[in-house]
Amino acid sequence: MKPNILVIAGHDPSGGAGIHADIEAIQALGGFASTLITGLTVQNSQNVRSFRLTDIDLLEQQAEALLDDYRFQAVKIGMTGSVTIIDFIARLLDRLPGVPVVLDPVLAAEAGGSLARESLADAMLDQLAPRSEIMTPNLPEAQILTGQTDLDDCGQALVSRSGQAALITGTHDDTDQVTNHLFTRAGTQQWQWERLPHSYHGSGCTLASAIACLRGHGESLANAVADGQAHVDRFLRNAFRPGQGQHVPDRR
Ligand code: PLP
Repeated sequence: MKPNILVIAGHDPSGGAGIHADIEAIQALGGFASTLITGLTVQNSQNVRSFRLTDIDLLEQQAEALLDDYRFQAVKIGMTGSVTIIDFIARLLDRLPGVPVVLDPVLAAEAGGSLARESLADAMLDQLAPRSEIMTPNLPEAQILTGQTDLDDCGQALVSRSGQAALITGTHDDTDQVTNHLFTRAGTQQWQWERLPHSYHGSGCTLASAIACLRGHGESLANAVADGQAHVDRFLRNAFRPGQGQHVPDRR
């Protein structure tokens, strides 16, 4: 069966990140994406200029329409944009018991530009992280969320505060390899990937959606995390440059 993955995320008109990235990654991995679009951003492959969030009333109506009709095998959360939308998502997740949730705690675009107007850290950690089985921050996001600087301290803080797993990605380092660290209550695990030559738009969205889709297929969390990274590595190796800014992963 094609797993139906509920994606709750923002729209990036340049096609590299956000909802486009999610739908493409999920489709490439054999899933089907239903989408609740939290906001529309104004951006290109170079930076984010502004964004506007969706009315909560409209999101609620869309969620009701989907829940009346579909069953979901996994959920992926990306850009939330406000505490009000985070509260809405938390209420929605409570109506999907047992469905695995992957939380990409988006705060800013990789190329620069904030994607939230208020501090979302506490609402994300209190409302969304405990309802998700894994969160996938990059190190700068993990540092903002926890107030810690050291990688291990960030990982421990995320696990103890949420009770769930955290995959902290190392894309922002300047090392030859990208090292991603998985923190769980049982311990830590790490993967190393060759650092590819460009800067990529939407790699975080792609990774979180890949993990959600693989969970929707019934893979264990450990396998979904490992396989999801391998798929993203392949998409990044085939990346192309549609404009004058970042490269976009070819999610096929
Ligand atoms: N979600 C939206 C709507 C975005 O516009 C962006 C970045 O521009 C992101 C998420 C995060 O993108 P990335 O996967 O590059 O961190």
